[in-house]
Amino acid sequence: MSGTWIDGEVGFETQLVHAGVVPDGETGAILTPLYQATTFVQESIDKYMAKGYSYSRTTNPTVRVLEAKIAALENAEGACCFSTGMAATVTVMSAFLNQGDHCVLTDCSYGGTNRVARKQFMNYGIEFSFVDFRDPDNVAKAIIPGKTKLIFSETPANPTLTLTDVAAVSAIAQKHGILHVCDATFATPLMLKPIDLGCDMSLHSTTKYFDGHNMTVGGVVASKTKELDERLHFVQNMHGNIMTPYTAFVTLQNSKTMQIRCLKQAENATAVAEFLQGHPKVDTVQYPGLASFPQKALADKQHLNGFHGGMLWCEVKGGIAAGRKLMDSVQRPWSLCENLGAVESIITCPSVMTHANMLKEDRLKVGITDGFIRISCGIEDSKDLIKALQLALDQL
Ligand SMILES: *Cc1c(COP(=O)(O)O)cnc(C)c1O
Repeated sequence: MSGTWIDGEVGFETQLVHAGVVPDGETGAILTPLYQATTFVQESIDKYMAKGYSYSRTTNPTVRVLEAKIAALENAEGACCFSTGMAATVTVMSAFLNQGDHCVLTDCSYGGTNRVARKQFMNYGIEFSFVDFRDPDNVAKAIIPGKTKLIFSETPANPTLTLTDVAAVSAIAQKHGILHVCDATFATPLMLKPIDLGCDMSLHSTTKYFDGHNMTVGGVVASKTKELDERLHFVQNMHGNIMTPYTAFVTLQNSKTMQIRCLKQAENATAVAEFLQGHPKVDTVQYPGLASFPQKALADKQHLNGFHGGMLWCEVKGGIAAGRKLMDSVQRPWSLCENLGAVESIITCPSVMTHANMLKEDRLKVGITDGFIRISCGIEDSKDLIKALQLALDQL
């Protein structure tokens, strides 16, 4: 058995299992070892860092393998792993925004992204425009020449699933010499490779589809250039918001099955969306795979592998009270909680849970009503998921 590959590019599924990973040099162990250590013994002062490691806040070998893997999956020059998705977001904002700068941020994002912009970075004298990214012209119009330093998009957006045309927004950013970061957590690299579309940085909460088993919280930013990646590692080393070696070890293993999990999740999401669409008590249902999805043309153009994700949302007739009753009464295999992207199917009430930290007017403006039901499909038998929803709907 040699350590070398047959020639030629390998497919995404092969990358998911092998990218960045080599058998351990000492023992041949097939999995990357969990290097659970704070520090690395140096041979001499002259040879400080000769093996590349000094202290685990700066770099850790297990974390570094996950970074190499994600960089390969994203066609990036480098990747930087974080303690959480929010740590990734905060580090991007603090690395590239200074007092007096301006950021164009999507008006529909993960609630924590909106909150940290409003409750922290605005206090530091950084300006934000909250813009509807469904139309790239809105982004172009919000740019303040000389002041705007960062465009922050999210697609599909949490929880409304509105899409950003990543190539169009990246072209606008490039024209003005502005950095564009895309939170592609809902997309996964199976659906979208932002850097291939001209984006500077692709951000994920690895808590979601990379882990996929409700085991760890983590985040990552993959960068188009070495310089961006070095800047992020530099700021991270100052802040210390690193991914732990244990989380990196778990994420390395769990991410190997991302494609087979995601395809099953999409199959379930399609079945659930079609069931809800045909149900008389359901008012609205949105899933990027449905013909009725408002941005269907962009979904078909932009999403790779015909993959539209495992997330959908709906509202039921009878408004807030009925929506809340459905979320309260739906039985297993559904779980009422936060998080998404895992093998367990999850139902979430964003107005009270994931997006409660947004200003109410910000939340209502993008359509996250109190009866908004966010659905994350797992990998169970879709018949069981539908049966449980049917029962809960019958009780309304
Ligand atoms: C969950 C999530 C985040 C935040 O990630 P954490 O790991 O929970 O900090 C950021 N963006 C999106 C789109 C998310 O769904």
